[in-house]
Amino acid sequence: MSLSLSAEKPAVPDDADDGVWLECIECGETFPPFEDVRYTCDECDGLLEVRYTDLPTFDDFEGEGVWRYADALPLSEGVTTQEGATPLYEVPRLEESVGVEALRIKHEGMNPTGSFKDRGMTVGVAVAKELGVDRLACASTGNTSAALAAYGSRGGMETLVLLPAGKVAAGKIAQASLHGARILEVDGNFDACLDIVQELAAGGEAYLLNSLNPFRLEGQKTIGLEILEGFLADYDAVPDRIVLPVGNAGNTSALYKAFRELVQAGELAESEVPKLTGVQAEGAAPMVEAIENGADEVRRWDDVETRATAIRIGNPVNAPKALPGIRETGGTAISVTDEEITDAQRDLAGEGIGVEPASAASVAGLRKLRTEGIVGDDERVACLTTGHLLKDPDAAAAAGNDPEPVPADTEGVLEHLRS
Ligand SMILES: *Cc1c(COP(=O)(O)O)cnc(C)c1O
Ligand SMILES: [Zn+2]
Repeated sequence: MSLSLSAEKPAVPDDADDGVWLECIECGETFPPFEDVRYTCDECDGLLEVRYTDLPTFDDFEGEGVWRYADALPLSEGVTTQEGATPLYEVPRLEESVGVEALRIKHEGMNPTGSFKDRGMTVGVAVAKELGVDRLACASTGNTSAALAAYGSRGGMETLVLLPAGKVAAGKIAQASLHGARILEVDGNFDACLDIVQELAAGGEAYLLNSLNPFRLEGQKTIGLEILEGFLADYDAVPDRIVLPVGNAGNTSALYKAFRELVQAGELAESEVPKLTGVQAEGAAPMVEAIENGADEVRRWDDVETRATAIRIGNPVNAPKALPGIRETGGTAISVTDEEITDAQRDLAGEGIGVEPASAASVAGLRKLRTEGIVGDDERVACLTTGHLLKDPDAAAAAGNDPEPVPADTEGVLEHLRS
């Protein structure tokens, strides 16, 4: 199996360009990386992965942010707004109440547009330039559109985003709008938007920058590299487990790829690789279903619903990459209710960390896995929080305290405070 966790290095095909090529994860067919536009395998329509002749070790990395890891990326520079280098917060009260040896929060909401999508776009938009395309497009639950609009405009390109009407948080639409994207509101869910944009891309209308695009996942790989470097610096060991929210399972795939490459580079032992643990909302949990049933394929859920709109996805396109990632690392997947998500959002806010609902799924999932005894009290864990609180102000206001009306004089305010 091409996605197993092993120290074996891939054979280098003739298609390699400067040590980089694309390879189908299903049939092994290879393609040159930058000659023509391609998202999936010409032969079997399988997902593609970017592969490299030389895999770097930690010593090869220098600088800060996503481009610190240029040696592990397909290009040496990108269209950048200084993405990456996000905080790995300590959360002592949460660590205590969840009951693990160590808990750190990797807050991806601290990226330029407020989500980890920036890491994928700095690479993906640079590849689009390399390919010479002029119009970029994506389907989005919101954050991908915000990042695409920002990075597309920075790169001087036109952007088109397809969003499910009425299901995108306010902050995200505002971003896509001000950064100049054409916003098409589709009368359907995210999965329908993705079907349409894939057809537009196949017809040559625009370059597709959903996480189906293998170059985007290269940028997102750097989340894993930063977490590992952070843990090595603070604990002299990589984390036992990384817990993350799952929508299209791009991050799950990307982090697994980062670990496989470190194993191949001889930097990480197979036994050290963190257990990838995915969390979905109960109303949108096809990956959890596949893991629980030991299935090789994910069944598409046609009706999905959750307050965590960023992970309101019924057909996770990266499942063929992510399922081996969860299984080979000894991880698992679990679903949580919207109430559990909101409770975790409050818990994080109580430590000064403001996240949008989908992000809090990681912490909600960890708490549940601890309660069920699946995660041990001796584990060192990193939870990924994927997006910023301000992305979804309505959800934050609903989860938080209500404003209290008071009269416009000090006496009245004091009276109110005492009552
Ligand atoms: C995109 C997104 C996700 C889902 O990530 P995948 O890589 O598609 O699984 C989760 N949370 C937020 C905030 C997002 O924007
Ligand atoms: Zn193939």
